[in-house]
Amino acid sequence: MTSPPKKNPQSAAKPTRKKQRPRVFGPQKAAEFYKILAEERPDPKTELHYSSPYTLLVAVALSAQATDIGVNKATKGLFAVADTPQKMLELGVKGVEKYIKTIGLWRNKARNVIALSQIILDTYKGEVPNTREALVKLPGVGRKTANVVMNEAFGEPTIAVDTHIFRVSNRTGLAPGKTPDAVEAQLERATPQMYKQGAHHWLILHGRYTCLARRPKCGACAVHHLCRYKEKTA
Ligand code: SF4
Repeated sequence: MTSPPKKNPQSAAKPTRKKQRPRVFGPQKAAEFYKILAEERPDPKTELHYSSPYTLLVAVALSAQATDIGVNKATKGLFAVADTPQKMLELGVKGVEKYIKTIGLWRNKARNVIALSQIILDTYKGEVPNTREALVKLPGVGRKTANVVMNEAFGEPTIAVDTHIFRVSNRTGLAPGKTPDAVEAQLERATPQMYKQGAHHWLILHGRYTCLARRPKCGACAVHHLCRYKEKTA
């Protein structure tokens, strides 16, 4: 009969764990964070070009996996000939394709633009619906696109989590989360009411121009002292 292995008194002793600092911003810190970003950009706006809720919806739907600059180049010609659902339907899928071929997934996107234009015309008398529930039922419109349209076109305090917002929220500790939905929920909680309307833009612009994916410009970052990113540079 083998006797149970003797316990090594050293390995048995559990190391005392250092209490970790909570990674999520508290309300005061979140307010300070937004105050600084708001002072940096008092009047933040989307960089997509549009002239109506409809052209905004189309531009945002086209922007999935594409840059705003690329989308603006394509929509310049497209919106010159079709800036309403009716005109878009007259252009047809092939016509739309001609203008957006420089954008990723253009075939699918052209089909979706025509399909959503048809629904907007048939169901909503040519007007873009102003609820998230209705927007996400349109072809090619997900929660992110719906949130952008709700915020930009209808002034709702929604926050659409794109790649920039996801990165900034996680790095800084403002609203960490493993998925865009988790980050969105955390941002809802962490963002003071007075900053909710602009939060989407401030976070995107901060990610796009300062907290870059590969080489964040920490040296020029206005919220450096609040950021909890372990790898932030001086
Ligand atoms: S300090 Fe660096 S990592 Fe932190 S938010 Fe600023 S740019 Fe991003």
